[in-house]
Amino acid sequence: MNTTDLEYFKNKLETELAKLESELKSVGRVNPSNPNDWEAVQPEMDVMAADDNETADSLEAFEENTAILGELEIQYNEVRHALDKIESGTYGTCETTGKTIPRERLEANPSARTCLTHADMK
Ligand SMILES: [Zn+2]
Repeated sequence: MNTTDLEYFKNKLETELAKLESELKSVGRVNPSNPNDWEAVQPEMDVMAADDNETADSLEAFEENTAILGELEIQYNEVRHALDKIESGTYGTCETTGKTIPRERLEANPSARTCLTHADMK
């Protein structure tokens, strides 16, 4: 892949990363003891004033945040992995065979690790 193409995909990936990061921040925060990990935040609640219903709602919201965060974190890590591959010069090659991933596939999913043939074999 030439430098122009790499710049092009790097741009796409960085835009995606920033978008995912702001979505992550809306449901969670970076784990203070592990900067590579995100954790869901408990929605704000006045514990003293809350009745049982509010406590249940808040718990439900926390569980929802945890689920959303889990999905986002997977995507976020995939995008970071793709950016690492750009740095190490292996971007755009199938991780199963080392062959070039077709450009259309990268356009559709810039963080694809494999060609379509091996997409289900991870
Ligand atoms: Zn492949």
